[in-house]
Amino acid sequence: METTLVLIKPSGVQRGLIGEVISRFERKGLTIVGMKLRQLDSRILREHYAHLVDRPFFPSLERSMTATPVVCLALRGVDAVGVVRQMTGATNSRLAQPGTIRGDLGMSGQENIVHASDSPENAAIEVARFFGDGEIFDYTPCTLPAIYDPEEAAS
Ligand code: UDP
Ligand code: MG
Repeated sequence: METTLVLIKPSGVQRGLIGEVISRFERKGLTIVGMKLRQLDSRILREHYAHLVDRPFFPSLERSMTATPVVCLALRGVDAVGVVRQMTGATNSRLAQPGTIRGDLGMSGQENIVHASDSPENAAIEVARFFGDGEIFDYTPCTLPAIYDPEEAAS
């Protein structure tokens, strides 16, 4: 199974969408193996958004991402990285498909409710960036046989 990182951004926190977003992932069948609030700062954002640091909108993105604490989630499941990216939708919420978190709940490119890791490699890096030792919990939900067939559950 894969473990992926989701951040409920200040846009989601401010708008009272924490429960809605977590509920979607729970209903899908993903296991929450890590969850906490964290106030981000410039250092971690420059690392996390290293690919965007030189873009003109970066100062605005940094202001937005530090406006309130974010909710950090580590979600586990078969193909969890791709599944969660699909549930997240396109970066610009106005273009994101209905049925996705951004498509259903947002109107903005920047204020787009959630971050989700974009590859298994980045997911491993990002889970380690946002969670410390002892903050990821390895447990097997008793519902697993109703979510996967045995072969899938072992993958
Ligand atoms: N972003 C923005 N304007 C842009 C591109 C990105 O404000 O033109 C913000 C937006 O909040 C996005 C984040 O920067 O979620 C990270 O960008 P990325 O291209 O990694 O998109 P994502 O993976 O979040 O869909
Ligand atoms: Mg990205």
